[in-house]
Amino acid sequence: MNDKQRSFPLPLSSVVDKAKKSPVFAPVATPQTATQNAAQSAARLASVPASARPGATPSKSHAYALDRAQPVAAAAPRQNPLVSDAVRRAMVQRVARQGVKDALVLGALETVPRHLFMEEALASQAYIDASLPIGHHQTISQPYIVARMIEVMRNGGELRRVLEIGTGCGYQAAVLSCLAQEVYSIERIKSLHELAKANLRPLRVPNLRLHYGDGMLGLPQAAPFDGIILAAAGLEVPQALLDQLAIGGRLVAPVGARAQHLELVTRLGKAEWRRDTLEDCHFVPLRPGTV
Ligand code: SAH
Repeated sequence: MNDKQRSFPLPLSSVVDKAKKSPVFAPVATPQTATQNAAQSAARLASVPASARPGATPSKSHAYALDRAQPVAAAAPRQNPLVSDAVRRAMVQRVARQGVKDALVLGALETVPRHLFMEEALASQAYIDASLPIGHHQTISQPYIVARMIEVMRNGGELRRVLEIGTGCGYQAAVLSCLAQEVYSIERIKSLHELAKANLRPLRVPNLRLHYGDGMLGLPQAAPFDGIILAAAGLEVPQALLDQLAIGGRLVAPVGARAQHLELVTRLGKAEWRRDTLEDCHFVPLRPGTV
């Protein structure tokens, strides 16, 4: 592990507090920016009915919203129809038709503005069910597989502490933060770790910690985890991760090289794990070390 492993201690109050002090909506007309998109989407999210939000229990609801009021005039007219709430809802309906049944997971997918996690040039493709490039030969995962893996990991139960290996742009971490009390996510590529921080900054995600490091080593200081998700495929699941699973906890990982499948590992006892092989999948490779 890189001994300079950096953590990203959220809450994002430092960032949000700074944002509060600066005049974000200057009276001068400026071109649409990612930040404005973020602000507008977050403001729209605040109006998602509570029943449609994941973790409808108030203590666990993490609907994204900026903690500053949005001028109505700035929010309405410029919305790109390809990244609208309706388009995101349609994506969720497709994911449900593909077989994801967990209503909380579907609700989380509906809550998180996926287009804010990709380059503006690709944002209009954000709600098609595909993985898309995020730079450094990595991808943002396909919405279906994000939902499916979380559904399998959750298994209808309560998630207190969850670990994700492979933050990438931060999308799945944001979805997880709607469903678990505490989420930890590790990324080995420094600039993607920074990208995820930047993507998550406009959203308030107080229960998510981003770490820069080698996820194959897990995060022993925060273990044990009720659930672990790998967003990159290794030839096998690293033992360190199996050891950091709580007894009764569930790990979901893509396993394989060219031909990959999803593997569910359930920890049954101190030295006993059960493996179940699920559907085929395609992920970027799990790699050791940091860059
Ligand atoms: N979770 C992302 C998917 C990112 S793609 C999403 O929400 O769409 C998978 C990521 O895993 C890549 O960013 C890659 O750099 C990262 N990765 C691969 N091996 C890793 C390791 N050992 N530790 C941490 N991250 C790793």
